[in-house]
Amino acid sequence: MTAVEKITLARFLDLAAAVLRDGHRREEPVYQFEDDPPPAVADGNQSEADSLPLIAENICSCAACSLGKTRTRAVPGEGVEHPLVMVIGEGPGAEEDASGRPFVGEAGRLLDKMLESIGLSRNSNVFIANVVKCRPPNNRDPLPAETAACVPFLERQIRLLKPQYILCAGRVAAQTLLKTGDSIGRLRGRFCELPLGDADPIPLIVTYHPSALLRNSEFKRPAWEDLKMLKTRLGEN
Ligand code: URA
Repeated sequence: MTAVEKITLARFLDLAAAVLRDGHRREEPVYQFEDDPPPAVADGNQSEADSLPLIAENICSCAACSLGKTRTRAVPGEGVEHPLVMVIGEGPGAEEDASGRPFVGEAGRLLDKMLESIGLSRNSNVFIANVVKCRPPNNRDPLPAETAACVPFLERQIRLLKPQYILCAGRVAAQTLLKTGDSIGRLRGRFCELPLGDADPIPLIVTYHPSALLRNSEFKRPAWEDLKMLKTRLGEN
């Protein structure tokens, strides 16, 4: 059973007990449940046995860093399997933490519009994930130890999904995937490749994070240039 299912059940039982006993609902406690452990998978078979639900289960029960203690919900990601484009952001914010879904706040609504403008959508041809799957308190940047603990989940997602292209939304995603300290100004505006060792590299383009566009409208034009560059590439396929 997942932690979310356990919380839903506990909420229902507590509510029913309170209403039957006292005639009204009481203040809702904070529930802390872990997912049931995933089925054992032999290490060597991990990649063959891997699946999106298994990765999501592993993420939701992860306690590898301190973000696991402060999260409401982990945010594994969402979208289609084998997407044309995988969008990779930084980490969940408050609304994502509450809902368990990526990019559902103001920045997410802008991201959806940006994607739509070049024929992309999480409902049809995109998968959206983040570098860290749990919300860093006060939306601070993820710490190196948090990124290091979480990035294996992202790597499993990339290997499983095999996106045709990757769009990095913002500095943290770009620097993490490309293993560089270069500024976003240097990284955006061109295609590069994400090496995958034994598998074909994936073409990757970096653009500004939608939150940066909301804060500073000067980034809108270069972000649009990046999206047009991606659209041109998609049209060439
Ligand atoms: N910002 C991100 O980087 N990811 C989200 O899921 C939401 C906001």
